[in-house]
Amino acid sequence: MINIGKTILAAERILKEIKNKKGKITYPINPFELLKENNSIITYSDFDKLEGLLLYDKNKSIVSINMNRPITRQRFTAAHELGHILLHTEIKANNFLCPISGIKDAIEKEADSFASNLLMPTEELNKRVDLYQDKDGKVGLNECLLIAEYFGVSFESCVKTICFRIKRFYIDVDNTELTKLIRKYKPNTKRKKLFEKSNDLSLLINAIDYSHFSTINLNEVIGIKFIQNLAYHDSRLENIEISQEEINGIFADLRMKGNESKYCKSENENIIEALGNIEMNKYCLETNDKLDVFKIKVLNRLLYKYAPYPEYAGIYRTDDNVILGGAIQPVTYLEIIDKMDELNTMLKTTVENLDKYTVAEYISIVAKIHYELTVLHPFNDGNGRTTRALTNWLLHLKGLCPIYINSNNRDEYIEALQNIDRENNYDSLQIIIIKSMMKTMADIHKSWK
Ligand SMILES: [Zn+2]
Repeated sequence: MINIGKTILAAERILKEIKNKKGKITYPINPFELLKENNSIITYSDFDKLEGLLLYDKNKSIVSINMNRPITRQRFTAAHELGHILLHTEIKANNFLCPISGIKDAIEKEADSFASNLLMPTEELNKRVDLYQDKDGKVGLNECLLIAEYFGVSFESCVKTICFRIKRFYIDVDNTELTKLIRKYKPNTKRKKLFEKSNDLSLLINAIDYSHFSTINLNEVIGIKFIQNLAYHDSRLENIEISQEEINGIFADLRMKGNESKYCKSENENIIEALGNIEMNKYCLETNDKLDVFKIKVLNRLLYKYAPYPEYAGIYRTDDNVILGGAIQPVTYLEIIDKMDELNTMLKTTVENLDKYTVAEYISIVAKIHYELTVLHPFNDGNGRTTRALTNWLLHLKGLCPIYINSNNRDEYIEALQNIDRENNYDSLQIIIIKSMMKTMADIHKSWK
């Protein structure tokens, strides 16, 4: 038996607690914050068939969210898992595997109802509909798009809630007809036109600020796989043709034989640089050295450690003959020394105040340093890879998980850098960093798949 009344009461109780604690309720509700307050550890997985997973471990619970789903869906899943924690205590010995599709049992439906009532409480939903209502007190799809953005929920769940829970949708339709209407409406395209700035970044920040970060040990299987993936995607980002098998072979041989590895003497430029890239990133993730911006020279030297003329590495460029894929104009070489000093002041402040920043604040600084170094383009070669390695050093320093940017998202990454160049808009780069962190967390918890 499904007990909807119980789910509504539980959601109302949580909302009341928020009001008592913060003085008022602001939307969107942050289900990740609520999960953490309920002793949950939040992480991400690369699920195929699950929205999320809830595991109990002594008096803690572990919640893992499907990283492949849109952030609005991830928020719903977080609220759904909170529903299990609050409503289904009698079956706590169980773990909950919450499916994407298929027939849902009573327990799943109750958790869904709790999530919906928590993120879109009826009273507040009616108030929003009042704002946009027609003469009959109803709203259409365009209005639903605005209301969904306000609550930080998916368009589909917003329309369905307005249609079936509060019955204020402009036409009377059944679920199948409504689903068809929603598909035809193309909400994602409409959303891009409607909002100059969507709330995607702020919703992702709400999530990542409360995530649990496991560190990566590069001597364990997960760490080895991480660095292999990193070397592969990082090379492909620079249009260097190298296969995943080659990278794995290089890494295995280097681990076994060190500098005696046959690859260290290879004539092949791609292999030599992949080898250097692995060493450079390993250094960033394992070092206790003090970080300053000039360490980028050390990194660049590691990248070209096995190259035929390593003496050219780690030295600032002395001309302006550089092309950044036509995307961004780097600063003139005459400015490099001054700009490096400026950047170092910023980095120094960041390192000194490390513990004062929230995860979200820190990521915005990391994005800024990443961009500034990209524009500085201090060396003749290897600037992109060196900059990304320094980014990992920064993340590692605050105990956050390292990232690699998937080479399939190369266009997105370049566009993110261009957005900063054109409009001083860091949103896309921050989104890429946060999503890449979620991917690393999913890699760490691969065994849960
Ligand atoms: Zn569930």
